Amino acid sequence: MVVLEAATHVGGRAHTVGFAGMALDLGCGWLHSGERNPWTAIAEAAGFTVDRSESAWREQYRDLGFSKPDQAAASDAWEAFQQRLRHDPPASDRAADALHPGAPWNAYAEALSGYINGAGLDRLSVADYLAYDDAASETNWRVREGYGALVAASLPPVPLHLATPVTAIDHRGRAIRLETRAGVIEARAAIVTVSTAMLSGGAIVFRRAIDDHLHAASRLPLGLADKLFLALGDGHGLEPETHLIGNPRDAATGSYYLMPFGRPVIEGFYGGGGAAMLEREGQAGAFAFAIDELAALFGNGIRARLRPIAGSAWCRTDHVGGSYSHALPGHAACRATLAAPIEDRLFFAGEATHSTDFSTAHGAYQSGVRAAEQALEALA
Ligand SMILES: Cc1cc2nc3c(=O)[nH]c(=O)nc-3n(C[C@H](O)[C@H](O)[C@H](O)COP(=O)(O)OP(=O)(O)OC[C@H]3O[C@@H](n4cnc5c(N)ncnc54)[C@H](O)[C@@H]3O)c2cc1C
Repeated sequence: MVVLEAATHVGGRAHTVGFAGMALDLGCGWLHSGERNPWTAIAEAAGFTVDRSESAWREQYRDLGFSKPDQAAASDAWEAFQQRLRHDPPASDRAADALHPGAPWNAYAEALSGYINGAGLDRLSVADYLAYDDAASETNWRVREGYGALVAASLPPVPLHLATPVTAIDHRGRAIRLETRAGVIEARAAIVTVSTAMLSGGAIVFRRAIDDHLHAASRLPLGLADKLFLALGDGHGLEPETHLIGNPRDAATGSYYLMPFGRPVIEGFYGGGGAAMLEREGQAGAFAFAIDELAALFGNGIRARLRPIAGSAWCRTDHVGGSYSHALPGHAACRATLAAPIEDRLFFAGEATHSTDFSTAHGAYQSGVRAAEQALEALA
């Protein structure tokens, strides 16, 4: 067995960076559905610290920029929208068609869709969205040492070739030939775990066409979500483990987690159009946007206390090309197509292949276990 990894590190979209002794997750950070998330037990067995405290997402710190009555109205509008998706879904399967045109909290719903799905509601399959929502619990935990660090530490003891992108896969002959810059590797079976952006973008050439899979990947595009971390200087006066969103009337607004784990940082999270806009701006422009949003809430005095320290740009990240997958309207069934083995020797894993826990690190893990079991059974 051998693992071929294109990047110079393992983990992909699970990626922790260190800053002043703090572990900051540029990709996944939350153990969603924590009580049934396999990473919870893996983390604890490996000596990582699972933080089970409740997330502060629902809170608007000191009601800044978002009055209590507006919070209630926005929350009611979102809840009513969810009910329409569930009980009166649009025939188009397009989530945006369940919005009431011109309704006051549509931009808020778009912002939430950006965080949850990485995409706007006009590009979102209702059936796919509900498949996730029905299966997920409300339990969201964290790993103090970093989710990315946990994933990287959990690599099984198998030969690993870093910086070895597979450029082509040839399954026309008896052996599967994996073409890399370092030469060809022959195998009896292969598990392809690259993102749908890489698959549909042609990063790997399949010498024998796998059109159904590539078409399915193109209908499960990666949405975009990005993070920005800002260090807090002395005298900021903020309280740990609190949260607010920048501007609830702007679909591109950020979601700001203040002092996670009590650390002197603010974690900004941007989804969909907001994340796309920040990637277009580049890191300097992205941090300027975040600081402007925070100054609009806390006053200009906060500017001198904020220092950019780290940020992601997942669309521009080599070998990944986006954040997490969603199904386009009418294409929820593509997850099953993408997950189907070919000739019982070419197998597919990765978050996008999970029928319910897609878009997550635990969905990716479970899909890998499923594909490995399929491969072992086929080889036996
Ligand atoms: C900002 C952000 C926040 C997120 N938050 C959460 C969260 O809180 N909780 C959660 O559960 N999930 C979250 N996610 C999603 C989660 O990170 C992903 O769903 C998951 O990590 C995807 O894993 P994967 O193995 O499917 O794909 P990837 O992580 O993309 O792994 C694929 C691997 O294949 C490699 N590769 C690509 N091309 C080739 C090639 N040609 N040859 C060899 N190797 C190749 C890549 O380098 C990569 O290492 C978040 C993601 C982002 C971006």
